[in-house]
Amino acid sequence: MVDQSIASLAKKLRAKEISSVELTQDYLARIKQLDGQLNSFITVTDEVALAQAEAADKLIAAGSTSALAGIPIAHKDLFCTNGILTTCASKMLYNFVPPYESTVTGRMLASGAVTLGKTNMDEFAMGSSNENSHFGAVKNPWNLDKVPGGSSGGSAAAVAAGLCVAATGTDTGGSIRQPASFCGISGLKPTYGRVSRFGMIAYASSLDQAGPMARSAEDCAHILQSIAGFDANDSTCSDVATEDYTANLDSPLDGLTIGLPKEYFGDGLDNGVATVIQDAVKEFEKLGAKVKEISLPNLNLSIPSYYVIAPSEASSNLSRFDGVRYGYRCEEPKDLMDMYKRSRGEGFGKEVQKRIMVGTYALSEGYYDAYYLKAQRIRRLIKEDFVKAFEEVDVIMGPVAPTTAFGIGAKTDDPIAMYLEDIYTLSINLAGIPAMSIPAGFADGMPVGLQIMGNYFTEAKLLNVAHKFQQATDWHTKTPSLAEGA
Ligand code: GLN
Repeated sequence: MVDQSIASLAKKLRAKEISSVELTQDYLARIKQLDGQLNSFITVTDEVALAQAEAADKLIAAGSTSALAGIPIAHKDLFCTNGILTTCASKMLYNFVPPYESTVTGRMLASGAVTLGKTNMDEFAMGSSNENSHFGAVKNPWNLDKVPGGSSGGSAAAVAAGLCVAATGTDTGGSIRQPASFCGISGLKPTYGRVSRFGMIAYASSLDQAGPMARSAEDCAHILQSIAGFDANDSTCSDVATEDYTANLDSPLDGLTIGLPKEYFGDGLDNGVATVIQDAVKEFEKLGAKVKEISLPNLNLSIPSYYVIAPSEASSNLSRFDGVRYGYRCEEPKDLMDMYKRSRGEGFGKEVQKRIMVGTYALSEGYYDAYYLKAQRIRRLIKEDFVKAFEEVDVIMGPVAPTTAFGIGAKTDDPIAMYLEDIYTLSINLAGIPAMSIPAGFADGMPVGLQIMGNYFTEAKLLNVAHKFQQATDWHTKTPSLAEGA
């Protein structure tokens, strides 16, 4: 049952082979059986899910053609869900029940999707390993001693273990793609502005973007179809017309030009990961693609510029959590200052506090020009590297991360080693282009993702390229033994 795609389930639901209520009950039972080992959910919404499933069964009986109708999915616990606890994996929001719905979750509800619950994540989406959660680390279903990646680690682990058909994630510097890579699933970070950020708890507003995490590119296409498009509630949401993301999945790849950035294959890349990526590229050559070496000369500046820009925006965004209006408030404050200080000191975890301090410093008088402004200038250079590259090639390919999933605790005391994990993903967010991670093989028994990057608003092309690979290979159908044994 864990191998079922959105398309095949949609057929079964219409053929009345199974009802959405039955399907939802199956998934809720799997969550009960397996999530004790994974910790991928913060909240499971049994009653809400079953009521939505009942409504979806009626929609389907009435002739709904929505591919998502009746499909059990999960949302990263950063999307505000009306009436449902939304914590962002922080003590600061341990009791926050939003009075409104995010655009992403609202659109998926309107498509008839069933919400099984809210998934675990790094606190406020800050992290690369899902170890920064107030609710405890998430485990990788392929090896319970390893991290699932972060920050959307709960979504990735839940999809990989078959605890939901698909899930939502968000990606500020890699948080959809890196956990997708570590857990052997498909994930898409759309172009900045393709999907509305309304109702997403902000980390770094100029970088944050929501996207689908699912078993296959085809499933990602169905979800993107539901969530993409203009939203008047988000002033940075683009009004570029959406495409039919499932229509051209099968288009042949003859003549496709793939750029391989030489900087992506240098020092620091694990040999096993490199071999998987090279083999994947050969598979694309068999499918008719041509390969060209390119250069993204400012890649090595992406970590320092991102780790100035993202904390700066975070320090500003997170100033709203002051213990006054919602969320955590310290016990018996002496005065207003004491309440601010202790609420924030007790409510935020260590990594979040560190980033607020770094960001506040970078934005402060006297340092703004030296750090923030300089980082913004580098951001422009990084963007220009991509613009130039896409004059020569249709897509760019490379690894998602330098290694496979690492051990739990292996990098928690070494923030630089943790930040270096993001070397291949950050520049994509700084430029604002779309990128995917798809399963491409294994190294030392752990999944390896191939990253496919595209020009602005070429999501349909990326999904086509990924889908053709998935028709020619079966990496995306592999499931961890933990899921099979259930
Ligand atoms: N690992 C990066 C960070 O900690 C990216 C996280 C994300 O994309 N939300 O900032």
